[in-house]
Amino acid sequence: MGRSQPFQQSIPTFWRLLRRFWPNIRKQWKLLIISAIALGAEVVLRLLEPWPLKFVFDYVLIAGADDRRSGLPLIQTLDPVILLTLAALSLVAITGLRAFASYWNTVSLASMGSRVTAEVRNQLYRHIQSLSLSYHTKAKSGDLLVRVNSDVNRLQEVLLTAVMPLVVSLLNLVSMVGMMFWLNRELALLALVTFPLFWLETTRLSQLIRQSAKQQRQRIGEVAATAAEGIGAIKVVQALSLQESFAQVFSRHNQKSLKKGVQTKRLAANLQRTIDVVMASGTALVLWYGSRLVLQNALSAGDVLVFLTYLRNAFRPVQKFAKYASRLAQAAASAERVLDILDETPDVRDLPGVVSAPTFQGAVRLDRVSFAYEPVHNILKDIQLEVQPGQQVALVGASGSGKSTLVSLLLRLYDPIAGRVMIDGRDIRKYTLASLRSQISVVLQDSLLFAATVWENIAYGVPDATRQDIEAAAQLANAHTFIEALPQGYNTILGERGATLSGGQRQRLAIARAAIRNTPILILDEPTTGLDKQNEHMVMAALEQLAQNRTTFMITHNLHMATHADVILYLEDGQVLEQGTHSELMQLNGRYAALYQMQIAVRDRNHDAEESGVAIS
Ligand code: ADP
Ligand code: MG
Repeated sequence: MGRSQPFQQSIPTFWRLLRRFWPNIRKQWKLLIISAIALGAEVVLRLLEPWPLKFVFDYVLIAGADDRRSGLPLIQTLDPVILLTLAALSLVAITGLRAFASYWNTVSLASMGSRVTAEVRNQLYRHIQSLSLSYHTKAKSGDLLVRVNSDVNRLQEVLLTAVMPLVVSLLNLVSMVGMMFWLNRELALLALVTFPLFWLETTRLSQLIRQSAKQQRQRIGEVAATAAEGIGAIKVVQALSLQESFAQVFSRHNQKSLKKGVQTKRLAANLQRTIDVVMASGTALVLWYGSRLVLQNALSAGDVLVFLTYLRNAFRPVQKFAKYASRLAQAAASAERVLDILDETPDVRDLPGVVSAPTFQGAVRLDRVSFAYEPVHNILKDIQLEVQPGQQVALVGASGSGKSTLVSLLLRLYDPIAGRVMIDGRDIRKYTLASLRSQISVVLQDSLLFAATVWENIAYGVPDATRQDIEAAAQLANAHTFIEALPQGYNTILGERGATLSGGQRQRLAIARAAIRNTPILILDEPTTGLDKQNEHMVMAALEQLAQNRTTFMITHNLHMATHADVILYLEDGQVLEQGTHSELMQLNGRYAALYQMQIAVRDRNHDAEESGVAIS
């Protein structure tokens, strides 16, 4: 991250973030209101904090200096002892209430944050579901998307650990400075004199501390790497008697890391000292000038007390601003990645007058469909295709022949440039995108897992799925057994920092995901590519289950999987070259038959080689 982008640059991102998720946030309006009220209360109570003390000073301790008590006749009539008692009680009450408000502010914000985050993750998932076909062709995005998921978590965390304290401190600062000006303008100006110095010093030193801390982390990383190297190669190291030189390298790195650590600590201590001195100067100024004002009867002693308290309470948190700002800048990077993915919408939109699709039967028709990503260069050319509900369609052909593109048209990731895609006899452009896509499930070659439990990973996109639903889906996908065998079963956290699964297991989770959606149409884009034989069998068996009674489009390079299909399409260069059942195409003795024979031959040769114990290279 280095010198991550300055905080100012991240403001538009946060604005974009707020606009984007405002509908989700607005749904939590109750929590939002509670949080706002609690926040307001917190600020006001902070403001009130020194006032009981002021009253005690002005009306109890300094009784006699009575000529200035013009404003509050009620207090003048009170018995000093009662006033004292009231002040003491309200001191406790104010602090207690403030703690209460702060608690509610944090709690309601936290639960709002986690609810919005859960929704955003669902949205992200649904979005990816519909986007990934085209998206996956462009980038190794699985990895990116998993990271995006952890970015969502980071955003939630930053909301609580940086945004909230920052807002509270800023409001405190503004309200207290406002109050100071209301009490006495000259003294307020004087109190603010040291502020620029305070600000400059804290930002300068904080930056140095951050840099130094970062370098220290790097050094620690080096130490760990050296240790790992030495231990990993321990046999070689001992065989070559390299222990001594390894130990030396290690201790050198260790020394460097220690030095950096000390430097960081020194800088932090330095910052603290500077702040203390600047604050003391500010306090001294206010005390000096304020007392003179008191002596001139322009101000009461209690007012000076209020000033001093505000000075301390308002400025102290400023030293943390630099820290918050840098966290926010980092969070902005996370936010951008999330937003970029969510904004990655193909130019496909709901047209006026669309209707929500009824539950599909699953009849699919492509009517002279042509498509191009870029003008003139047609990727699909005049495709004609008719599929009955529940039929299995296999798409085969060399890579780049347009198979993925063809199925992406069903999801309306793109619209054809000519012709129509129809489901149940109606142009899919007549349906809303949401209702169309919610009835199509997709299993890709590389299925991504989120950093969440198995439960959540399966039920993504179906928020109201019950545990039984999830288990049933896992059963269907041949996944139940291995899930149960995981350390925490269905509660195991998967993804980036969680348990790692084999490719076959991931695919079976993806199948469970598709199963729970229970859609009439299913798209499988090379679901077994890259799996070993045993996993391939398991995944294929699960897919067979899943495909039952659903119109299924399966892209595969494994022609064995295609043999059972009701229709096989052999694509070449964006055209359907051959179309028919396996036996029809074999009889035709064209491209498909040639490819099939070649695969059989290769398989048999491998098989023979295995039998006779000859190693295959
Ligand atoms: P297949 O799935 O059969 O391997 P694709 O449908 O992915 O083939 O790709 C067909 C052609 O379209 C290829 O030449 C590919 O380079 C091109 N293509 C795929 N996706 C895009 C895209 N998003 N933008 C531009 N060209 C693309
Ligand atoms: Mg493809």
